[in-house]
Amino acid sequence: MPDPSSPGSTKHVVVIGAGPAGLSAAYELTRHRTPVTVVEKDPLTVGGIARTLEFMGCRFDVGPHRFFSKSAEIEALWTEILGDRIQPVRRLTRIQYRGKFFDYPIRASNAFWNLGPFETARCLASYAQARLHPVVEPKSFEDWVSNQFGHRLFEIFFKTYTEKVWGISTRELSADWAGQRIRGLNLVEVIRNALLPAGLRGGGEQAIVKTLVDSFRYPRLGAGQMWETVAARLAADGHPVRLGEEVVGVRHAGGRVLSVVLRDGRGSTLDLLGSEFISTMPIRELIAKLQPAAPSIVRAAAEALGYRDFITVNLVVDRAEVFPDQWIYVHDPGVKVGRIANFKNFSSAMVADGGLSGLGMEYFCFEHDGMWSWPDRDLLDLGRRELVALGICRADEVKAGMVYRQPKAYPVYDGEYQHHLEVIREWLTRALPNLWLVGRNGMHHYNNQDHSMMTGILVARNIATGTSYDPWLVNTDAEYQEEERAGEGSSVEGGRQVPQRIAS
Ligand SMILES: Cc1cc2nc3c(=O)[nH]c(=O)nc-3n(C[C@H](O)[C@H](O)[C@H](O)COP(=O)(O)OP(=O)(O)OC[C@H]3O[C@@H](n4cnc5c(N)ncnc54)[C@H](O)[C@@H]3O)c2cc1C
Repeated sequence: MPDPSSPGSTKHVVVIGAGPAGLSAAYELTRHRTPVTVVEKDPLTVGGIARTLEFMGCRFDVGPHRFFSKSAEIEALWTEILGDRIQPVRRLTRIQYRGKFFDYPIRASNAFWNLGPFETARCLASYAQARLHPVVEPKSFEDWVSNQFGHRLFEIFFKTYTEKVWGISTRELSADWAGQRIRGLNLVEVIRNALLPAGLRGGGEQAIVKTLVDSFRYPRLGAGQMWETVAARLAADGHPVRLGEEVVGVRHAGGRVLSVVLRDGRGSTLDLLGSEFISTMPIRELIAKLQPAAPSIVRAAAEALGYRDFITVNLVVDRAEVFPDQWIYVHDPGVKVGRIANFKNFSSAMVADGGLSGLGMEYFCFEHDGMWSWPDRDLLDLGRRELVALGICRADEVKAGMVYRQPKAYPVYDGEYQHHLEVIREWLTRALPNLWLVGRNGMHHYNNQDHSMMTGILVARNIATGTSYDPWLVNTDAEYQEEERAGEGSSVEGGRQVPQRIAS
């Protein structure tokens, strides 16, 4: 019998990373009876960014993961894997600003009611001012949005949250992004939508988009349940995920990748041979690990790709009901937290003891900025203090907590990234055609799970059946994504829908 791991004799696919993209690829390969080995550097957990952590009987996603897709195939796959363990959730999410909760998406009547007569008058005056004296040729996000809504509403609903998520002043962000993000919307439109019944508003498509995001599905035990179940099925099929093995080298010769070098927790290394290789690891790291090294122009392009990182402070609160939302966006400028998820409102099974609540507080940062390297106890302290400052609970109700740092949570789309990607792709396609890039960081593409999964599935089909799907065409549908991405704490998709600095 031929050795499935020797190149040339038969197909043996090596998948780097047991996140949604890698596991979906592996699952699809097993459907086609193609031998596959998934290697994952995490010693304990599959699911990548879509994993679920457990602490003191409470379960926390790394930022809550809604299951929602326009792809019937992906929805069907979630159902196939989870059956009745994936449940519909009616979405309730609001914005917290200075002690008040505002509907999200924003409704004018609710917003003005919450702001009160004085602040409302201030907003309207600032709107009138913007209409009478708009910034001519607005270049920044701040100027563009202020022109549409007035500066005061901009400060309340756009400034702080955008700056928390992206870490860049709204004065430096390009108006271009705002133009796409808030297309065709102005204060008059918002008020009209708030006052008129749905049928008289027009904008049928918008209504459809809204309906789609008003509900979503969610696994009983968190997003990670999906990926734990897929991994269990792979194991049952004879393809267990190799946990705790990090790819530290990718060896190639003669125009093909031959093996990956794996290092385990004890520091031992070994070569894993394969005929095809699917990578979900960040492109920057993949290119740096090639042996022999990629040409300098390709290495420079990969080095130039940027990422935004993310910390979750997960707190166990000794109270059955904290707030009714699945998550709240925190616009208050006085606190650093960007979003707070309440996981029992996704699924009651997320807490073992119904008298407790599990809150995930999200802090956006860069790996190199101060907060990333704060000791856990300082981050836990910050989380507790901010819950109290926001009036969500008392300090003594916070029983315990744990911190999770997610590097490279967001691939950054700066002015140059598309060019860098082209350089890398062009070389890889030519030089190493048996190395396939899929997933979110694997393609440096701002994908949700569904699109990450789809790229993995299509590549698996190409390998197993000889089809020629182009995974780079997945997720070019920016329209609904814009709403969809709201769940990630920002509304972005497609090549240009992530903010960019103003070109100098
Ligand atoms: C805050 C936040 C909220 C989100 N919310 C949603 C949501 O509501 N709904 C939704 O559908 N999607 C959501 N997403 C997106 C979703 O998390 C991603 O689309 C998905 O996890 C990407 O899957 P992936 O397999 O491409 O990558 P990842 O999830 O990043 O998995 C990659 C895997 O590769 C492993 N790996 C990396 N390097 C190596 C190496 N050298 N050797 C071995 N293994 C390696 C990693 O450990 C990881 O397990 C959200 C993302 C974030 C950051």
